[in-house]
Amino acid sequence: MGLSEYNRKRNFKVTSEPSGEAPAPPRQEGVRHFVIQKHAASRLHYDFRLELEGVLKSWSVPKGPSLDTRVKRLAVHVEDHPLAYAEFEGIIPKGEYGGGTVLLWDRGTWEPLGDPHQSYAAGNLKFNLKGKKLQGGFALVKLRGRGAQREKDQERAWLLIKERDAHVVPEETSDITRARPESVTTGRTLDEIAADRSQVWHSNRDQVDAGGAAGGRVAPPPTRIRPPRFAARATPPRGDGWLHEMAIEGERLLARNAGGQLALLDDNGAPLGAAAARKRSAVADAIRMLPAQSLVVDGVLAAMTPDGLPHAAALSGALAGKGKATLAYLVFDLPYLDGHDLARVPLAARKKLLAELVRASSEPGPLRFLDHVAGDGAAFQREARRLGIAAMVSRRAGSPYGARAGWVRAPCAVSAKR
Ligand code: MN
Repeated sequence: MGLSEYNRKRNFKVTSEPSGEAPAPPRQEGVRHFVIQKHAASRLHYDFRLELEGVLKSWSVPKGPSLDTRVKRLAVHVEDHPLAYAEFEGIIPKGEYGGGTVLLWDRGTWEPLGDPHQSYAAGNLKFNLKGKKLQGGFALVKLRGRGAQREKDQERAWLLIKERDAHVVPEETSDITRARPESVTTGRTLDEIAADRSQVWHSNRDQVDAGGAAGGRVAPPPTRIRPPRFAARATPPRGDGWLHEMAIEGERLLARNAGGQLALLDDNGAPLGAAAARKRSAVADAIRMLPAQSLVVDGVLAAMTPDGLPHAAALSGALAGKGKATLAYLVFDLPYLDGHDLARVPLAARKKLLAELVRASSEPGPLRFLDHVAGDGAAFQREARRLGIAAMVSRRAGSPYGARAGWVRAPCAVSAKR
């Protein structure tokens, strides 16, 4: 079968699963590994994988293995997986092929009875397992379809059966999948793995590269952040070299992820209290899903009403889950990313990295990149006024993130007639 089908089904920019090119774990001559991964996808199943012919031959077993010889479990033969997959436990992002949580349910070595290549080709594999949960003889037997009536599904249908030996346990006595639900490597349950967002993005992911930004400085995640203020101006700045954005009516909100330690911060850089953070947990979840270990983003939390514009008055309702407005977290700056302090990196470059980061998320939730228009402030103001936007903010394309940022805010609307 090879790995072409495996690779074709997956987008390795999004999923943390190993690609077919990932280096295989160190091998011992003559030792064959097996692994069983409990997979909470659209339907829970157990992926039974045997190392053979340089790949993991794989079967999807909806009910999982049984230690009872009378129980025959359907095992649907699926595409070969790379050997490196045997190490994988974590989350496959939603929307990706096989999206869901993967738990390493059992692993160890297997010994075929007879020639494994011939037995596999003949659809009748008998073998001994030496795992943590499964031991002794098992058989994987291909179901015989009914002549010309045979369908593709039947072509793939095999049965997993326990062979008679000292390791048999009748179903009435105990069901191994119920008795031992936990991960064989970490002892965690599926729920615990699903809650650990740190394993969504793994070593082979495609990261947004903070190291390439000119002006960046290698540094640990900041413990103290002072969000720059926007100075009020009667008119927007003239001339080139400015980036203009719509001023969002809402709540200034920053998010800091320091290697999985997530904090939401207010406009002074102070952490929100537990209750306030809980109401904004959708923001924290979206930040965890970004392809970065550590970052600080600056933005505004807003309530978007059905007219597509943010309305400050609707925010408390949206936070309480009431009303028609939906929460949106519009991010406009990125002062820190994965080991790099970006405060001295020009704003235009920080925003470019931020845009890439948001675009790379498979689950952005309420997260939105707040785009800008470069150029003359008066032209932006005219356009914004036409769209009914009340105010705008302007920042120099080269401005740092910090006390001397020099950011300004100006009204767009002509003062309303009373
Ligand atoms: Mn699966």
